Amino acid sequence: RPMKKHNFSAGPCILPESVMKKAAEAVVELDGSGLSLIEISHRSPAFVDIMERARSLVLELMQLEGKGYEVLFLQGGASLEFLMVAYNLLEKRAGYINTGTWSDKAIKEARIFGEVVEVASSGESGFNHIPKGFDIPAGLDYLHLTSNNTIFGTQFKDFPKGDAPLIADMSSDIFSRVIDYSQFDLIYAGAQKNMGPAGTTLVVVKPEVLGRVSRKIPSMLDYQVHIAKDSMFNTPPVFAVYTSLLTLEWLRDLGGVAAIEEQNEKKAKLLYSEVDLNPLFEGYAAKEDRSLMNATFNLTRPELKETFDAMWKEAGINGLNGHRSVGGYRASMYNALPLESVGVLVDVMSDLERKA
Ligand code: PMP
Repeated sequence: RPMKKHNFSAGPCILPESVMKKAAEAVVELDGSGLSLIEISHRSPAFVDIMERARSLVLELMQLEGKGYEVLFLQGGASLEFLMVAYNLLEKRAGYINTGTWSDKAIKEARIFGEVVEVASSGESGFNHIPKGFDIPAGLDYLHLTSNNTIFGTQFKDFPKGDAPLIADMSSDIFSRVIDYSQFDLIYAGAQKNMGPAGTTLVVVKPEVLGRVSRKIPSMLDYQVHIAKDSMFNTPPVFAVYTSLLTLEWLRDLGGVAAIEEQNEKKAKLLYSEVDLNPLFEGYAAKEDRSLMNATFNLTRPELKETFDAMWKEAGINGLNGHRSVGGYRASMYNALPLESVGVLVDVMSDLERKA
């Protein structure tokens, strides 16, 4: 079969090849059981074991074991968490840091449930940086941020400290770098970047921040209901959970988050060096806020677009176009993307300089 593509897709994105093989095998037959992963009861010992291993591996990789967190694998994507967070935690006022499209969408949903204070925003400069040095008002029910901005290519390096519970949408950089995850009270992430296939959303939450709102919450949207049922309130997305487990095991066997962070830094350094040195390219995001996951850049001579596009496609590269809302280019370098693929892209970029 032909060489696989160099997959820079922003999400769903590249997953480890070994994971895709094992997941495919399990769809045919799970561990020699004579049954497929997707035809067994989610209450069977085999699946309950998968769910429990996935939940505990999440805590292990985030170094949150024994720190009072609960892990849920829900459905509805990160987009449903935009409203579940507010449904479950917003009584009066919540603070949001607006760093782009996804923060904006989270804010829009939260406004249905209460007052939203936009504590800081980089909107006036096209979301090309992470706001800094802002004051956090007192008396917030929580403060929400988007740790990595998939579309604009910016990433928080340090996180604000305040009295309010801290909530992060980590959809596009979870498990990619060593951070103190215990500074957050609730973290959520759609699986389809660093964790697995689309179809499940990871929620890691400290139960003590729940149960403080006065409204009635429908069962399916109530974090406490899901926690009480060990993430099995209803039929979980069994394939997405199993494949997430395989990806997390792959990460653990590689040496965990610290080991992948080293790889991610190498990949980002290689690409950003080319963006900075090659006069035909310019980065979009402020240097100090550049994402290790999604590198955004533009051509300095737009007339070269057709040539460049033909060159990277010819090199077997997939998914380099910027988000439809901003244009330009975006190279997404999630955990499973090999350094070699970044090397191929950088070679194409320097070839363009030689030819132009
Ligand atoms: N937040 C961020 C940071 C994202 O990158 C995305 C999707 N790309 C979402 C939220 C929305 O996720 P979903 O499609 O799982 O609802």
